[in-house]
Amino acid sequence: MNTIPGPLSKDAALGPASQPMVDPFGRMVSYLRVSVTDRCDFRCTYCMAENMTFLPKKDLLSLEELERLCGAFIDKGVRKIRLTGGEPLVRKNIMHLVRALGARVKSGELEELTLTTNGSQLARFASELAEAGVRRINVSVDTLDPDKFRAITRWGELPRVLEGIEAAQKAGLRIKINAVALKGFNDQEIPHMLRWAHERGMDMTVIETMPMGEIDEDRTDQYLPLSELRASLEERFTLIDIPYKTGGPARYVEVKETGGRLGFITPMTHNFCESCNRVRLTCTGTLYMCLGQNDAADLRAALRASDDPVHLANAIDEAISRKPKGHDFIIDRTRNRPAVSRHMSVTGG
Ligand code: SAM
Ligand code: SF4
Repeated sequence: MNTIPGPLSKDAALGPASQPMVDPFGRMVSYLRVSVTDRCDFRCTYCMAENMTFLPKKDLLSLEELERLCGAFIDKGVRKIRLTGGEPLVRKNIMHLVRALGARVKSGELEELTLTTNGSQLARFASELAEAGVRRINVSVDTLDPDKFRAITRWGELPRVLEGIEAAQKAGLRIKINAVALKGFNDQEIPHMLRWAHERGMDMTVIETMPMGEIDEDRTDQYLPLSELRASLEERFTLIDIPYKTGGPARYVEVKETGGRLGFITPMTHNFCESCNRVRLTCTGTLYMCLGQNDAADLRAALRASDDPVHLANAIDEAISRKPKGHDFIIDRTRNRPAVSRHMSVTGG
């Protein structure tokens, strides 16, 4: 008996445009970080040199193009998108992209849309972000001392960031505070920052400084292994390992005394690559399959070459087939060169 084939399912009809992204090591890619601009209104000393050469404006993707690229990744199984930078909130009309992606959260296609920000523009954008479908954001604060804050960011004003945090909490956004642990700068202050964050219902994450891009200072002077920080925190606090995960590389503990969570991001002392589910897109459409490697794919060319989603999907699949096993970050005095020449602000944190 002949069977009459039924209509193709939407997924089968789309072919590679809807097939999940699995890398050569069997890791499923479900998380996209998008650096919407490499520009920033701060110049944090561990992140940027004072005089930076930014990507040429003519090479930038439009917000519509970024939206199309994000859409292609969502069709291929991305469930979480983080907008970052540079400072994402200084990109002109950024809310256009946030609203478009927020609609994908509201429709259930995307589980989460989130943002990493320095907080300088948060007071202005907090309620719009919440309305657009953002539920959670990361705000980077490396110190609560206004003078030290100005010194580390070169240009930043702490009160403005604190106002932004307050506005975001009022708008109902959940906040995680990110602090890069810097030897001789904030290591003594972390216990105070931890209490401050937890008293306000915010989680906190500490990050090891990574050797990305030329900066004006010596990274070996700044680098603080988090194993050392953890040991010193354990003299004052009871840290209980917990299986909590947010989709990123942080490993969390619960701090018994405060009841809050503290995350450790340890690219240097504990390689976190084995469970990597992420790829990173820059504002010029370059896809980095690893934060710590130079290999990349030019998705702008694929995007502009054809309107056919299959063409872009094939370019994405080709890139994922090159996702490396992990990074080779080292910070020591004998190899005092960045592991990759681009700054964190290009690929986004
Ligand atoms: N401008 C936003 C901000 O500061 O949150 C988003 C981009 S910033 C590049 C993202 C995160 O990367 C921030 O938490 C920042 O502290 C961190 N970061 C920047 N350079 C770093 C480096 N070399 N090593 C480790 N973390 C770094
Ligand atoms: Fe700007 Fe963020 Fe880099 Fe600081 S860490 S210079 S705020 S991109």
